[in-house]
Amino acid sequence: MTLHYDLHSHSTASDGTLCPAELVARAHARGVHVLALTDHDSTEGLAEAMAAAGRSRHPASRDISTSMYVRDIGLDLVPGVEISVSWNSQTVHIIGLHIDPANQALQKKLAELRDFRDWRAQEIARRLEKHGIADTYEDAKAYAKGKIVSRTHFARLLVERGHARDLQQVFKRFLVHGKPGYVSGEWAELKDAVSGITGAGGQAVIAHPARYKLSATRLRALLTEFKDAGGTAIEVVSGSHSRDDYFTLANYANQFGLLASSGSDYHGPEHPWIELGRLPELPKNCVPIWTEWSHPLCNAFASTLPTPRRA
Ligand code: AMP
Ligand code: MN
Ligand code: MN
Ligand code: MN
Repeated sequence: MTLHYDLHSHSTASDGTLCPAELVARAHARGVHVLALTDHDSTEGLAEAMAAAGRSRHPASRDISTSMYVRDIGLDLVPGVEISVSWNSQTVHIIGLHIDPANQALQKKLAELRDFRDWRAQEIARRLEKHGIADTYEDAKAYAKGKIVSRTHFARLLVERGHARDLQQVFKRFLVHGKPGYVSGEWAELKDAVSGITGAGGQAVIAHPARYKLSATRLRALLTEFKDAGGTAIEVVSGSHSRDDYFTLANYANQFGLLASSGSDYHGPEHPWIELGRLPELPKNCVPIWTEWSHPLCNAFASTLPTPRRA
């Protein structure tokens, strides 16, 4: 059977709107078999997500009415994170998959990034205040419910206050380079993000490479540096990539000896253009990152299958 993977998603532990348990339940209901929770600079949602995945998992069993093995075999949760990186004065996101959230060195790095986030949130608020929009820090923090404060929280707040029609418009008017509430990132170094992930037993993946709008030369430089630092894969299929991007990036993955990942970057039902369980297959010419993974889920499934009869 074909397993459906979604290796990039967010919960309320960062800027998603579903709590980890709700996210897992929705992924399961939409036919995702293997889900990675990859919150920005935080692993706080993983415990709840793992517990929820454990509850939704049930070994494959024979459906008595049809004599078929039922396909609904539950959900495997891959512990992940999406680390903010500054690379050549640009923000790039590196995903860690199968990380050990108890790893101290990784947690120290993530804590530094969260400290920067908090300072940045105050700075965004100061800049918005100069622009005539007062008291946004406390309100954005309230939106974040004590978790990391992201630009997304400011965006939701500004929509609610009527400064823009939707999130896209807030970003365009206030929160991107050259706009009044923009603060440039001082995130992790690429090599530190990758080593933080691999040091925690994980695999590093460049998130949504097509989103960075890099020239071919710069994309090659990024891929070379990432590979040299010990990176494993690039997101070939992403909720924010076009079909053309899939094929271009599959070729880059092959050229650079990198594996291919696939993830929606789901942030919640308020963003209906991205849904769980709707990702197309990876192009045939690339090697999926999960090729060598062993899943409790697959194993549980395999162990209940009848042993093939010899001819
Ligand atoms: P931050 O990491 O706090 O700088 O926030 C980045 C997050 O903002 C991304 O992970 C997206 O979820 C969201 N985001 C970035 N650009 C846009 C945009 N143009 N429209 C809507 N959301 C965006
Ligand atoms: Mn986000
Ligand atoms: Mn991202
Ligand atoms: Mn993301």
